[in-house]
Amino acid sequence: MKALAGLTASPGITSGKAFIFRAPDLSYDPSGFGKPEAEKERLEQAFSLSKAELEKIKNALSGSLGEEYGHIFRAQMTVLEDDDFKQEILDRLDEGSCRAEAALEAVYRVYEELFSEMEEDSYNVQRLADLADICKRVLRNLLGREEINLSVLPPESIVVAEELFPSDTAMMDRENVRGFVTEKGGLTSHVAILAKSLSLPAAVGTPGIMNQAEKNDFIVLDLRDFETAHIYINPGSEKKAELDQAARGYRQRQKELLAMKDLECVTSDGRKIVISANIGSLDDLVNAMEFGAKSVGLFRTEFLFLRGDLPGEEEQYRVYAEAAKKLNGGMLIIRTLDIGGDKEVKALALPKEENPFLGLRGIRLCLKYQDLFLTQLRALLRAALHGDIRIMFPMISSLLEFRRAKELVARAAADLAAKGLEHRPDPPLGVMVETPAAVFLADELSREASFVSMGTNDLTQYVLSVDRGNEEISSYYRTFSPALLRAVGLTARAAEKNGKWAGVCGELASNPMAIPVLVGLGVEELSVAPQLIPQTIVQIRGFSYAACRDIAEKASSLATDEEVKAFLKTAFRSA
Ligand code: PEP
Ligand code: MG
Repeated sequence: MKALAGLTASPGITSGKAFIFRAPDLSYDPSGFGKPEAEKERLEQAFSLSKAELEKIKNALSGSLGEEYGHIFRAQMTVLEDDDFKQEILDRLDEGSCRAEAALEAVYRVYEELFSEMEEDSYNVQRLADLADICKRVLRNLLGREEINLSVLPPESIVVAEELFPSDTAMMDRENVRGFVTEKGGLTSHVAILAKSLSLPAAVGTPGIMNQAEKNDFIVLDLRDFETAHIYINPGSEKKAELDQAARGYRQRQKELLAMKDLECVTSDGRKIVISANIGSLDDLVNAMEFGAKSVGLFRTEFLFLRGDLPGEEEQYRVYAEAAKKLNGGMLIIRTLDIGGDKEVKALALPKEENPFLGLRGIRLCLKYQDLFLTQLRALLRAALHGDIRIMFPMISSLLEFRRAKELVARAAADLAAKGLEHRPDPPLGVMVETPAAVFLADELSREASFVSMGTNDLTQYVLSVDRGNEEISSYYRTFSPALLRAVGLTARAAEKNGKWAGVCGELASNPMAIPVLVGLGVEELSVAPQLIPQTIVQIRGFSYAACRDIAEKASSLATDEEVKAFLKTAFRSA
């Protein structure tokens, strides 16, 4: 047996067979080529193999996620079926002296050049991204390298990877995946968040896992602890029996908590706290409602964009309206596209940045690509007729950005009115407090916004200047830093002064040790990972607001995060 330690990204205890996910090596020796006829034959074969693969993925995706996702690959299929494209490669091979791989790449580069001269609208960007993807597929088939695809997994798989991106996770075969473990990644990296919203046990930041685990090894992920993940590879029978028993106990406790999911969330002295769910899709919402969710505090809409192509107004409208209807009048806070940082939308093929987390992210990107933003805003305003939809803007660092976003909401409403499409022109608009600037401006922002919600994942990253996704420096990502607690307190007080509510939708809201502190600091809404809803309600009911205030006051007056954690442990014992 081998035992490794990592970071718990999404809690649980699970086991299965290792599925090693490694991007294929696409390098080749350009001088090793055959006669033109032989190279042409190889190209034809690679095209047919690629077509067969696409067909398989398309069918699998339609089956597991619904018809609408199958079409993602239609555009790529069109490239394979385009005779002109193939002919251009064949022509190069006729000229002789190159291998099919090189001819394919040369033709791709011509197209890339052509696209770079075209207008950079979302349609062209999408077409180039499709072309790049399909060329990579053909290249891999030319080289005879195996495809590693997470959308079709063997039953009971534990995915083991160096690193996963949200787009990989979004594509993951949900029927067959039992959990995943990655070498890299921090606790609040987006892949960790996605795992949580899927209630999929996951460990990140696990050094050595790629060297230690082999295909089909039996792996147990013991992720009951909120901080340290324990990973066992091929445990012996004694350890396995112990883990089986732990898994049964864990499931039993979850069952007991689930039975309490509909209890009112109120402290013992009567302060009501709204508990909402964080979701990234309609599937997540269904899952969240099973855990008792009555409202959504954060719908990460960018996850709809990670799977393939860009959803248009109609498709987005259907998703948002459906979510609002499902919630049956419950609050649904929909965050506008928050692309950038570690959330790469392949379909947008945005240029690489030196410092993506300080770059064109969140609202900044939407204010630049206004057609993308307006499409989403129109969909949101139309959907707002079907429930209590509230719109929230990410990564705000000045009042001006919020005002410009509001102007664009007004423009989207005017566009809809001009087209005679029914909509709600004035849903509540909120601001995410994720930057130190937003904390210092919380007074002004909450005066003009309907509500504020603290994105503590980013807020921690920016207050402490530490990359949230980098496991090398995860010890600097101090969730309980008094600096952060004071930032939360400042924001909550500013909101209260302006008669608005302040929530927390970052991962801190899901951390049992942080909950009484947040409540005591004046936070009125906690938006948490779906499976943590019952336990959060139960926990809050066990505290009085007066006790939470004392805890919060003391915790934020301490000097270091170690002191805060030590204090909270004792406070919990005496509560
Ligand atoms: C946050 O930053 O805390 C947040 C909720 O947004 P995201 O994790 O999607 O960046
Ligand atoms: Mg954020």
